Amino acid sequence: MNCFSKLIIVFLFCIPSLQAQNEAYVSEPNSQVSDTTFVNLRDYSNDFIYDMKYATEDNFLKAKVYDCAECMLRLKTVKALIAANNDFLKKGYRIKLYDCYRPLDIQKKMWEIVSNPEYVADPKKGSIHNRGGAVDISLVDITGKEVDMGTSFDFFGIQASHNFKQLSKEILSKRAYLKKVMIQNGFNSFDSEWWHYNLKAGLKDKVANQKWKCE
Ligand SMILES: [Zn+2]
Repeated sequence: MNCFSKLIIVFLFCIPSLQAQNEAYVSEPNSQVSDTTFVNLRDYSNDFIYDMKYATEDNFLKAKVYDCAECMLRLKTVKALIAANNDFLKKGYRIKLYDCYRPLDIQKKMWEIVSNPEYVADPKKGSIHNRGGAVDISLVDITGKEVDMGTSFDFFGIQASHNFKQLSKEILSKRAYLKKVMIQNGFNSFDSEWWHYNLKAGLKDKVANQKWKCE
């Protein structure tokens, strides 16, 4: 598929580069879409809660770096995330999204502010977020209330680690529950951030620097 193939495909960056792979974004569900194509989660499910922090100024960058609060991911990541969410829904929970695919340019901005690989991936290597295979998430309960996970999203400290055990039993069990269901659905956890999950099948995809169209 190339930059000019279909009207439904939106390319803002069509210049190939050695570092970044700019793949098609398909805006509607389509059986012909390959597993590595970038899609909008909202076109596949209405069962998620959106709290896309980088589409607001409420993040460590103190800047709104996304034009709108959409969750773009490769199709295979969307499929695994929906499967995980269906498991949570059976128990009265659902996934709240903080961040999904992240263009490489945004990764560079983050690295300038926090140059610590425990919390922000070096853009030279690229984060799995830049590959469309990572999500930052929490859970909300059946009343719509966010589950207490012990720290806020993007809390850069030891308390955000899965290995930090000086938290209430309730919090530890909720973190463990989130992790268990995500792992069952094909994701890896990340020790220093309870909210971050990588799709195992997405670790080797190329980094991308595309943007998506906002309605
Ligand atoms: Zn993350």
